[in-house]
Amino acid sequence: QQHTPYRLRIVVLGAEGVGKSALTVRYLTRRYISEYRRAIDLLYRHTVCLDDVTSEVEILDVSLREKEGVASSHSRWGEGFVVVYSVDDLRSFKEAGVVLEALTRLKAPLEVPAILLANKRDLDHARQVTVEEGQALSLQHGCQFYEVSAAESHVGVTLAFQSLLRETRALHLTA
Ligand code: GDP
Ligand code: MG
Repeated sequence: QQHTPYRLRIVVLGAEGVGKSALTVRYLTRRYISEYRRAIDLLYRHTVCLDDVTSEVEILDVSLREKEGVASSHSRWGEGFVVVYSVDDLRSFKEAGVVLEALTRLKAPLEVPAILLANKRDLDHARQVTVEEGQALSLQHGCQFYEVSAAESHVGVTLAFQSLLRETRALHLTA
């Protein structure tokens, strides 16, 4: 039996308006909150039991944007990263690439547990980024890739966060 729970620090990054807050709240509560605009970074704490292992998870929902895509203080604090763009916003996809590059640089030589999340897949009619482009970017950075919709369902969102938690936890095991 495990006595000391893992403590996992997750940072949610990406351009403004891509749905970082909606995704975070969806994961934590299973509910969809469509208006969650606040210009502050929010830190959430929760305890999860995943694969019979208990972890204390802290999730930082970043609101204040950095020129470089990610603040060095956030990259230092975080162990696992959710990088979000929106399928109807090409600029946000470019920014996701910038964020992933910055993370690789700032965390080097450590491996960076990260997932690339393409949000708002319900807006298929307004799509500016194809699934293939998203996959290609994730392959380039060796991270997992999910297309989800915070608006439509919690299922994909939950799976994506869980896989990041597993990957981040695995880093503890090898440390
Ligand atoms: P943030 O700035 O990245 O935190 O983005 P928010 O979570 O505040 O969401 C920005 C806007 O996108 C809000 O109006 C949300 O209602 C909307 N939104 C978030 N997720 C989705 C989604 O999956 N589909 C659609 N259609 N809209 C979404
Ligand atoms: Mg937000």
